[in-house]
This record gives sequence, C-alpha cells and structure tokens, in this order.
Amino acid sequence: MLIEPGIYCRLAAASRVPRPAVFLDRDGVLVEETHYLHRVEDLQLIKPAPRAVARLNQSGILAVVVTNQAGVARGYYGWPQFEAVQEELERRLAPAHLDGVIACGYHPDGRGVLAQDHSFRKPRPGMIQHAASQMNLDLKRSWIVGDKLLDLEAGIRAGVCGAILVRTGYGRQMEPDLVTLACDHVRLEVADTIGEATEIVIRSIASL
Ligand SMILES: [Mg+2]
Repeated sequence: MLIEPGIYCRLAAASRVPRPAVFLDRDGVLVEETHYLHRVEDLQLIKPAPRAVARLNQSGILAVVVTNQAGVARGYYGWPQFEAVQEELERRLAPAHLDGVIACGYHPDGRGVLAQDHSFRKPRPGMIQHAASQMNLDLKRSWIVGDKLLDLEAGIRAGVCGAILVRTGYGRQMEPDLVTLACDHVRLEVADTIGEATEIVIRSIASL
C-alpha cells in the first residue's frame, strides 16, 4: 500500500519484544541489477537469495527490504509495475518470506509531487527508522546489506550495528571506497553474495 504518493510500505505487525532485523537492498542484492527493473520477465533472483532469507526467517531475524525506486519518480514505471515485480520476487523466495518492504519513489529529478529529496530516500535513514518504529526493531542488533555505499550509509545513519557490502550488483565497483564509511560503532564487512552476508549476521547476533 502507499502511505504517501512516493512511499510504498508493507510491514509485519510490531513484535512484543524488540527484535533484530536485516535491512536488505533489493536490486543487486536479492535480484540481479537490471537498469530500473520493472518488468516481471526481467526479474532474476541472485542465486543464494531464497536460502539466505529462509535462514534469517529460521533465526528469528526479520528481513526487511528497503529500496530506492527513482524510476517511479522519473515516470519510467508506476507502483502497479513495482508491485507486480515484488509479488513475483516473493513467490520465488517462498517458502522463505520477507517481513517488510518499503520503497521510496521520490527523486529530486522526478516529476510533479515525486520531485523531492525525501527523508526516506537512501542515503537518508527514513525508511529504516520508519520500519524500526512500526515493527519494534532493535536497531542496535540490526544490520544493513547493500550493493552501494548509499545503502550502507542509510543503515549507519539509522544506528545499525553492522553494514555489509555484497559483491553482486554494483558492489564490486564500490568496494575500494568502503573505507570512507569506517566509524567506531559499526562493523563493516564485505561478502560475495547475500548468502554469505546473512551468515555473517546470524553468527554475529547469535554471539551477542
Ligand atoms: Mg542496489
């Protein structure tokens, strides 16, 4: 559902006790990066994705997709196409499931009301903060996984404990600049795929 013209949001109900989450970028992390993915026929899962999400589900770690969708702002596609791709993605992930999805369809170069640099647009932390407050997430035990530095930056600004750059999507190109995000209170990691990334998270949360 749209909570405002540029924000698609579907989140599981808040849990009684605060729980850890992994915030996952979608394009280049769960699905192959194809420029402005909006057709179901172009959707290609990154191979370890279903098992990676299943491992999070089994470990009691919530899986929440946070994705910038500038293509909506630019008028390349609309929310119905986004939702169709999302439904197909979730069909292919099953029996694993996503606990939440938030997408930001605003962009400063967009059209009409969508032309703004919204607080939900990564690298800003709005999507993560919104999910955390709605779902009762424990950000201090949560992680961000992305293929761009702006994904990780959004997580760090929201207060997660760890950030993982995957080498899929744009990740390999971004790797040399990862050090620019270094700070005391966040663990920075690099993983080949979402499969390796989720194992890092599961080990880390189990050891707390
Ligand atoms: Mg991406």
